[in-house]
Amino acid sequence: MEAKRGIALLAAAFIVSPLALGLGIILLIAASDDDDGGGGGDFELSAGTLRVGPGYVPAKYAALIEKAAAACDQGLPAGILAAQIQAESNFNPKAQSKDPKTGRPIADGIAQFIPGTWASSGIDGNGDGKKDVWDPEDAIPSQGKMMCELLKTAKKHPEYNGSPIELALAGYNAGWGRVQEYKGVPPVSFAAGQTYNYVKFIMAAQAKLTAPDTAGEPEMSGEWTKPVNASLGTPYHQSGGMWSSGYHTGIDFAAGIGTPIRAAGPGKVVSASRVAAYGRQVIIRHADGIYTQYAHMSELKVSTGDTVKGGQTIGLSGADGNVSGPHLHFEVRTGPDYGTDISPLPYLRKKGVNI
Ligand SMILES: [Zn+2]
Repeated sequence: MEAKRGIALLAAAFIVSPLALGLGIILLIAASDDDDGGGGGDFELSAGTLRVGPGYVPAKYAALIEKAAAACDQGLPAGILAAQIQAESNFNPKAQSKDPKTGRPIADGIAQFIPGTWASSGIDGNGDGKKDVWDPEDAIPSQGKMMCELLKTAKKHPEYNGSPIELALAGYNAGWGRVQEYKGVPPVSFAAGQTYNYVKFIMAAQAKLTAPDTAGEPEMSGEWTKPVNASLGTPYHQSGGMWSSGYHTGIDFAAGIGTPIRAAGPGKVVSASRVAAYGRQVIIRHADGIYTQYAHMSELKVSTGDTVKGGQTIGLSGADGNVSGPHLHFEVRTGPDYGTDISPLPYLRKKGVNI
C-alpha cells in the first residue's frame, strides 16, 4: 500500500505537465482522425532495438534508454521511453519549460521532471553521489523507474480502458489519480484532450523510434491471419481468480482438440515448449518487434528457431496446461515474457486481419 500511494502522489505532480501543454496542438492534429474513446491500443508497438540517428534517437542516449527499459521487470519497451523523451525535450538535457505567465520554471532536463517529483522520485542513476535532474544519466533512469512503477500499478487494473502501457503513460502525464477517476486513459474531454493525445502520440512515435528487428534473419513472408478457424471466447482483460494476474492476458478461441493452429503472421519461433500454466505453447517474434503466443496445444509442429510464414500450421489445438476445456489461448506481447501483453484484436486488425 505504501508504495502504491507514493506512486499516486508523485504521478499527481504531472497533472499540469508542461510537456502535455506544449504538445497539445501537435497532438490534436496527430489524433484528429481517431476518436475511439481512448486506450484503443491500435498502434503497432515495437520492442526491438532503438532506431539511432538524426531525427531518431541520438546515439549518446540510446544505451541509457535501453538500460533504463531493461531495468524494468514489467516489459517496458525502450521505444516508449525514447518517445517520451523526444516529446518532452527533444533529447535536450538542458531543456527547461517555464510558466508563460510568471516565468517560473516548471520542469527541468531531458525527461522534464517537475522539481517536486524529482525530489521524491529522482535517483542517482550513474552512482556519482548526487542526483542531478540535468544529467541524463540520472534523469533517464529516474524516468524509467517511474514508468516501471506505473506499469506495475496499471497491470493491477485490467478492468480499466487501455493496455497497461497506455495506462502507465496516462498516469505519467495526468497522474495516476486521473486514470483511477476515469478507469482508464482519460477521454478527450479531460484537459482539452492533452492526456488522451499524449498517449496516442507516444504509442505512435515509439514505433518510429524502434528499428525493425529483422537484421540477419531470413526473408519472412506471408499474410496475416486469424490464428485458428474458431469463434472467439473469453475476451482480453476479463477479470477472474483463475488467472495469476487477476485477469485474462489474451483472447481465447473455442477450438476443439486437433484443430490446426496457424502463425498469425510471419516471424521467428523464439519458443516452442511446454510450461505448467500454458501447456504446449509457441511464441513467435514478428518483424515489428511484437510477439504472439499460442497456448494449450495438444501437439507442436514447429521448433524454437524456426522461421514461419503467416498462416503456417504451428501446432494442433488442445487442452494442455491450466485449462477447464480445449481452446486456443492467444496473446500479443511487447516482449517474449508473460506480463507484456497488449490487446490482441486491435493489433491483428491493424495487420489487416478481419476479426
Ligand atoms: Zn486464455
